[in-house]
Amino acid sequence: AKEFGIDAALKALGIKKINAGTSTGSENFGSGEIIESRSPVDGELIAKVKSTSKEDYERVMSAATDAFVDWRKKPAPQRGEIVRQFGEKLRELKEPLGKLVSYEMGKSYQEGLGEVQEMIDICDFAVGLSRQLHGLTMHSERPGHRMYEQYHPLGPVGIISAFNFPVAVWAWNTALAWVCGDVCVWKPSEKTPLCGIACQNIAAVIFKANNLPEGISCLINGDYKVGEMMTGDSRIPLVSATGSIRMGKIVAQAVAARLGKSLLELGGNNAIIVTPDADIKMTVIGAVFGAVGTAGQRCTSTRRLIVHDSIYDKVKNAVVDAYKQLRIGNPLDENNHVGPLIDTDAVVMYQEALQKVVDEGGKVIVDGGVMEGEGYESGCYVKPAIAEAEPDFNIVQHETFAPVLYLLKYSGDVENAIEIHNGVVQGLSSAIMTNNLREAERFLSVAGSDCGIANVNIGTSGAEIGGAFGGEKETGGGRESGSDAWKIYMRRQTNTINYTTELPLAQGISFEL
Ligand code: NAD
Repeated sequence: AKEFGIDAALKALGIKKINAGTSTGSENFGSGEIIESRSPVDGELIAKVKSTSKEDYERVMSAATDAFVDWRKKPAPQRGEIVRQFGEKLRELKEPLGKLVSYEMGKSYQEGLGEVQEMIDICDFAVGLSRQLHGLTMHSERPGHRMYEQYHPLGPVGIISAFNFPVAVWAWNTALAWVCGDVCVWKPSEKTPLCGIACQNIAAVIFKANNLPEGISCLINGDYKVGEMMTGDSRIPLVSATGSIRMGKIVAQAVAARLGKSLLELGGNNAIIVTPDADIKMTVIGAVFGAVGTAGQRCTSTRRLIVHDSIYDKVKNAVVDAYKQLRIGNPLDENNHVGPLIDTDAVVMYQEALQKVVDEGGKVIVDGGVMEGEGYESGCYVKPAIAEAEPDFNIVQHETFAPVLYLLKYSGDVENAIEIHNGVVQGLSSAIMTNNLREAERFLSVAGSDCGIANVNIGTSGAEIGGAFGGEKETGGGRESGSDAWKIYMRRQTNTINYTTELPLAQGISFEL
């Protein structure tokens, strides 16, 4: 870690040996259990975090609800100015934060920097948005009446995030929520608490410098029990939760039980369809990066490759050859392609998946296994594997959060590939590789991919912040980031004003006194 400048990064981000995991801005506290953050890169203890107790949580909610009363009154473009300053601070601290993301989560340093870049980009987007929170105007059916709609701030927004995007997902939510006039309470994953503390420290500097009240940016830490404090809390009108489908089903029900809103960003089971008209070179790059990037721990990672039987062997051989070039090792070393899984529990799940595919009759064609020896002491490094399988295998129907790619074969028309493609419960990201316009359009048509993201001649992995991000079916239906995703962070109000001395009723009803 020393050799890659981790100590300096921790210092620049204000991370101590023991950190208070609860914060309302510049006030930091924490009286709950201690969470230890260990790096999957080398197994070292990075630092400890005091998690959030019930009393700490109440203190946070009291600050957040008070702060909302003031913050919502600040004109939206002025809120945008605060987000602009936050984005500038992120530019200054991009390298240390990118390094911490890489060291605490295990993704490559390049991807760590990329995550911080996404935070910067969404801040820029939010600044522009702060002058564009438009509603519509409508023509009233009554004479002398004016009708329009407007968007008002919603209240404290609860953010629950997953380990694999430990900083960007928070920024996607918070940058928009802040310009919308909301305050935020964030519970990062208990596997990446230091990334949360670093982000909160950065935000706190900006809020303090602008003499803003405590509570606009709040942090809580802990496992699902701390998350449940928010899902059951009616003071939080919107809970935005990113993570597994299992978690999403529990969170959705808890929030719905009090008729709150939830924004769910859950698991994917993303596939690339490869048709006879595909550019094989592009396909291989897209598929391999999609399957092994972030060690297969992206919600948009490529899990299934659905290949036409006429080119199946060609694609298979090219992908298998590409896997031979992969270098597995320390993600802070830019020579490596594949870093570690998040922890040894994830390694067990990966091993079980490879066993299951064999048990169900599949054939492993690129062997998996856990790396051993120097540089692999954390026990979290695994070999990316490929298995030939059938679409309806139970294991193929599930998301295994690891670098395991399933090769599936289709024959005949592209419709057959689309049927296999859509035959899973998840609906996040999808792609088709083809130079055939008809196939591409069919994939994007009403009878095509049923996912929230559908790409042509690009893989499934990753997305730009400008579009709305999210998926259908058990992926949860939520949309974050660009386009009009901001609307969920606000409440819509329809207003009608009568500027006459008459009181005509709608629908032509007459009511005489
Ligand atoms: P996870 O579901 O284990 O945990 C996610 C978060 O939910 C954590 O902060 C956790 O503490 C919290 N949580 C768990 N149970 C809870 C409960 N009952 N109440 C409140 N909070 C609870 O997921 P993970 O292992 O951290 O992340 C991997 C998963 O996240 C994968 O399935 C991946 O596809 C998904 N993911 C989806 C997206 C997306 O945008 N669709 C993005 C990133 C990750």
